[in-house]
Amino acid sequence: MSTTPQLLDRLASLTSIRDIELLEFSLLKTLHELFRPEQLILLKLDNVGKHRHTLRYGSDGHHESSMTRAQRSESPEVESALRMSQRLGGAYHSKLANGNNISAYPVLDMQSMNVCLVIESRRPGSPQDARLIQGMLQIYRNFCLLIDDAQRDQLTGLLNRKTFDESIQRVIGLVGFHELPPAVPGDRRSYPEKDLGAGHWLGIIDIDHFKRINDSFGHIYGDEVLLLVAQMMRESFRENDLLFRFGGEEFVVIAECPDMEGARMAFERFRQRIEKHHFPQIGRVTISFGGVQVHKDALVHSLLDQADQAMYYAKANGRNRVCFYEDLVAKGEIVPVQYNTGDVEFF
Ligand code: GH3
Ligand code: MG
Ligand code: MG
Repeated sequence: MSTTPQLLDRLASLTSIRDIELLEFSLLKTLHELFRPEQLILLKLDNVGKHRHTLRYGSDGHHESSMTRAQRSESPEVESALRMSQRLGGAYHSKLANGNNISAYPVLDMQSMNVCLVIESRRPGSPQDARLIQGMLQIYRNFCLLIDDAQRDQLTGLLNRKTFDESIQRVIGLVGFHELPPAVPGDRRSYPEKDLGAGHWLGIIDIDHFKRINDSFGHIYGDEVLLLVAQMMRESFRENDLLFRFGGEEFVVIAECPDMEGARMAFERFRQRIEKHHFPQIGRVTISFGGVQVHKDALVHSLLDQADQAMYYAKANGRNRVCFYEDLVAKGEIVPVQYNTGDVEFF
């Protein structure tokens, strides 16, 4: 088979990737090089079928990645092929009105996310092509699961501390992107209008008197509290919010909210949910919450330090409360620290 050396090269580079987005882009590039289709679309759908992320690779190699919080769909023909492949639980092949062939493959079915691949091509694929595609998708699937596993905390399944460092850098970049005016009027750079200008807030959550829970009931009960808090965190925050276990009894959320009041409501809702929950044997558990807004020039260590200061203020002032760094600075309760980064100073 003439494509074998090329394919092995591509597979070798695919399997060296440790970043899901890069892996997805490489997968489409490889499929494009092998089959020269008209279009490749990798779609991520949430558990109610809404499109959350689309990676598109055109016949000329042009590619585009778009995230969306709103209901957005492909053409009715593509949508119908997607539904059929999901119903079948396998590949679905059909013809479009323009005469092109379309194949839809369900790729991955994770907790709250389905990944599907759509290939539109002029010539119909051979059974050998279909086997090759299925093989590539299996490799992608295995790697996604491995990467996902490495990004999660073993006990709670939330994202781990290591993943936080990468995620917060991306969020800071996204905030900068949102704050940029469109280069060309009307250019939304594949982001729907409603997504532009959204702010991000970082919150540090620490369980109050957790040592007492361990000391009075034992570590197994302590661990169960950690699990339940993580579960309620997933239920309380939105799907797009990023949730981390930072270690011990400390959790972090990066929440997307339109403004400070939105962030306050989201954090308060979670605090109240924990306060009202009856934990088996233990009864009432409370949390202290410190929040800060993520700005485009923010430094990771300063954000964590500011959220920590707000959280410790909450601890020192009765626990079981949500405090924001910005509020405490405005009230004169916290004096802003100057963060020195060498040649630039940040507050
Ligand atoms: P505060 O209200 O000031 O936060 O008091 P605290 O008792 O929660 O704070 P402290 O930091 O003194 O105690 C945290 C405890 O969390 C100490 C440690 O034994 C316990 N811990 C850390 N990791 C785990 C874990 O994975 N499982 C369990 N069960 N306990 C843990
Ligand atoms: Mg702690
Ligand atoms: Mg604690």
